[in-house]
Order: sequence, then structure tokens, then C-alpha cells
Amino acid sequence: MPIRNPEVKYTQLFINNEFVNSLSGKTFSTFNPSTGKKIADVSEGDKADIDLAVTAARNAFKLGSPWRTMDASARGAMILKLASLMDRDAEYLASLETLDNGKPYADAFGDLKYSAHALRYYAGWCDKIHGKTIPVDGNFMTMTRVEPVGVVGAIIPWNYPLLMLAWKWAPALCTGCTVVLKPAEQTPLTALYMAALAKEAGFPPGVINVVPGYGPSAGAALASHMDVNKVAFTGSTEIGHLIQSQSGTSNLKRVSLELGGKSPLVVFDDADLDEAVKLCADAVFVNMGQCCCAGTRTFVQEGIYDAFVKKAKEVAAARKVGDPFEEGTIQGPQIDEVQYKKILELIESGKKEGAVVECGGEACPGDGYFIKPTVFSGVSDNMRIAKEEIFGPVQQIFKFKTLEEVIERANATNYGLASGIVTKNLDTALTFAHSVKAGSVWVNCYNAVVVQAPFGGYKESGHGREMGEDGLKEYLEVKTITIRIPQKNS
Ligand code: NAP
Ligand code: MG
Repeated sequence: MPIRNPEVKYTQLFINNEFVNSLSGKTFSTFNPSTGKKIADVSEGDKADIDLAVTAARNAFKLGSPWRTMDASARGAMILKLASLMDRDAEYLASLETLDNGKPYADAFGDLKYSAHALRYYAGWCDKIHGKTIPVDGNFMTMTRVEPVGVVGAIIPWNYPLLMLAWKWAPALCTGCTVVLKPAEQTPLTALYMAALAKEAGFPPGVINVVPGYGPSAGAALASHMDVNKVAFTGSTEIGHLIQSQSGTSNLKRVSLELGGKSPLVVFDDADLDEAVKLCADAVFVNMGQCCCAGTRTFVQEGIYDAFVKKAKEVAAARKVGDPFEEGTIQGPQIDEVQYKKILELIESGKKEGAVVECGGEACPGDGYFIKPTVFSGVSDNMRIAKEEIFGPVQQIFKFKTLEEVIERANATNYGLASGIVTKNLDTALTFAHSVKAGSVWVNCYNAVVVQAPFGGYKESGHGREMGEDGLKEYLEVKTITIRIPQKNS
């Protein structure tokens, strides 16, 4: 059951297992997007606090420290404990997420379970990561040893605060790294509570640090820090470019980037219409449209185009928008006024450029940042709504004729995060899956992001992969040890 007004227990920075004020004493406010009202003031970390947190993380990473001498299996047990604590406090944590982020409680609860699942998945990997013995040329025995990359800076967005935290913490802790996390300024609250749970789970001081603050100060300090070995970033493509430059102008720290998208979802004439319309609606409207892999470009083959548009309008209009704590609500508010205005401006641009508003197309009356589920038909590839990431509840429907044509149009974007196809024809599905330039291809499903499989982007949707076995590589160094074998006559 949701808790309507969850108490905010932690608002300070978390460094070296202690909650502390920022050195500057500054704070910033976090808001409830359903009302626009302030929830709490949170300590604002900047460069000086990031320095302290990185020092704590570095000390925790030193050879001989409790963290570095702990058995890998014990690390796994500790991560499992953290996941269990999340389950214990699930209702509270999910409620806090709904309060700070605005997502419906059922979704927040689902995110929480999925986050704990990600921790459990990587907990199992802890004592199964190992190198190889390689039959090299010459009189040598050569083996590789995989080692944690070191201090990880994690910078995350506001759309899935708990999940993005888990996607960074889980592989980092699994491999034996230490972490400094900067949550998004809009959603710092669940990250701070997670820090308290990490302490309770027994993580030694400095292994996990959380420094809320702004991107250009705290975030940039982390990305350009000379003693951070890797930055794991999820957010916009624009900031992704900056993060990579900051690595280049500092210590060439490793960077993994999970950025934006404008993902194509292609529906062929042979699809079951009702199922396809529902699948496409869920693909774009999930999480108020604030999803990096949202299937925002719905391509529909000409034979079913008109019928599809008619049903898409009905399905979107029927979505219950409102109080995210109320049972049955599937769409809450957008995250803040900035995003709300950006989305409404893009909707206006779609109208001006001649796309047809089938439903929605405007804000909901009243307080908070609510926008009606919006469906545009008659969208052409050169419109802004066809090209720019809207990050809101706005579906664009395009008409296409042939497979060759739609592959070309699907790929005509600088993004390449995800894609989908709905068809009963295996040849069509396979041809599309081979040809589309995207990190994920979902056939007759969408948003099937699972902890065991890698997720990440092509092109300007980023590089590196998260989750699955591939996700581990981002947090590991490979050391090659070669030993000369003494020559013997025998
Ligand atoms: P963003 O600006 O890229 O923010 C993501 C994170 O980066 C936040 O923690 C942010 O801090 C931090 N940041 C900002 N500037 C930075 C800098 N100069 N150096 C280091 N870190 C910095 O994304 P957003 O403003 O939250 O969302 C805007 C757009 O990002 C969306 O419209 C969408 O296109 C995209 N987005 C993508 C994803 C995804 O999963 N791929 C998720 C969310 C958003 P602050 O808290 O100060 O902003
Ligand atoms: Mg908030």
C-alpha cells in the first residue's frame, strides 16, 4: 500500500558512511511534480564535496582495505542483503519515489522490485568473474587477472532514479569498485535512503557515497576528477558529449554513456491490430514518455494505417492521468516545469508543421505538470517531432509501404538505442533485426529490458553496455601476467 506522505528521513550528503552537510552549507529544494510544491531542502554538493567523496572512495579501494580483502562471495552476500533491505522497505521507498518523481505508485513499486533484481543478478556474479590461462607463443605461462577498475563516478537522471542507481551500483559493487553517485537534482531522495540501507547492509565506509547537487558543479567535478577511474553516465546526448570531453581533458577515465533515443517501432499489415496498438501505446507512454528507449516513432504499414490511427487515439485517450498515489492511475505528471514546457513547445511545433493531433495536444488543467496523452498522425520525417527526443507522452504515427523503405527511415537518425517490429512474418522480422542500427531490437514486444541481457546504444545513444555479462566489462581491468617457465632438459 502506498504511503501518501512518506517522511523524508535523509537530506544530507552521504560520505564515508556518514550523513553530512555540504561544505558550503548550501541546499537546494526538491519538488513534488504533482503539485509543484517543495518537498524538502537537500544539501547541495559541489566540487569540494566531490573531492571529499572521491577521497573516501579511494581510501576504501586501497589494497588491504576491508573492501579489497573481502572474499568475493562475501561481497555478493552484502549486495543480497541490500536487496533484501529494499524489499523490507519497499512500500516506503516506492512511495518516496512517487512523491519526488511523480510516477504512479505501481510503477515505482515495479521499479523498486526490478532494481533489487538487478542487485541480486550481479550479487550472483561476484565470485564467478575470473581470467584465463592462455597458451601463448614462447616458453611462458600467461594468465589474465580481472581487477576492479577503481573509483567509479555515477551520474544518473531523474526518470528512473532507483533503477538507474541499481544499474550503476550493482556492477560496480559486484566487481569490487567503490562509488560516488550524483543523483539528478530533481530526484535525490531515494538515493539518500538507499545510502542508509547500504550502511545497514554493512558496506565499509567509503565504498558507497552519494553527493546530490547540480550537473555543472557536482556532476562536472566528478566527470573531470583526476582520481576517478570511470564514469558511468545516463542522461541526455548533449551532456554525454560533455562527459566524454571531461574525461579527455582530465585523466582519460573510462566512460560509459547511456543517452537519448528516438526509437522506431514498426507495425506490419499482418499484425494483430488490437495487440499492436496496445503494444505501441505502452512503448511510448510508459513512465509519462520519459523513457530513453521509448518507441516514439510508430511506423505503420499503409494497409492498416487508418484503422491503427483510429484505435491508437481511443487507447491513448482512455489512459487514466492523475494523482500518482491513486490506484488505477497510469500516467502522473512530467518531472518538472522545464520538461513540461519543452514538451508543450514540441507539441505546438508538430501542429504548426502540419501533423494531425488525434487526441491530447495540450496540458491538463489544474496544478502540477500533467500533459494529456497525445497522438499525432500524418507525421513526416522532417518535422521536429519526428527528429527530436520529446521525453513526454507524445506518439508520432508515420505511414510506410515497404520493408526496405522503413529500414532506411528507421535508421535515418543520429540515435540508435532501441527499436521494435510487430509482424507474424519471420523473414521480415529477421531482416529488420539485422538491418536496424540500434542496441536493442524487440520483436512482437517492446521495452523488454531484462537484467540478464545487455542494454545500450549505437551512434549518439551512447556506448558501453549495462546489465548482463557484458555490463561487467565496463567495470573491469584486465591484467596480463606472464611467467617464464624454466627450461629443463627432461
Ligand atoms: P541531463 O541534463 O543529461 O542530466 C543527467 C544527469 O547529468 C543529471 O544528474 C545532471 O545533473 C547531470 N549533468 C548535467 N550537466 C552536467 C555536466 N555538465 N557535467 C556532469 N553532469 C551533468 O538530462 P536531464 O536534463 O535530466 O534530461 C533532459 C533530457 O535527457 C531528456 O529530455 C532526455 O532527452 C534525456 N534523458 C535521457 C535519459 C536516458 O535514460 N537515456 C534519461 C533522462 C533524460 P542535474 O541534476 O543538475 O541535471
Ligand atoms: Mg522532485
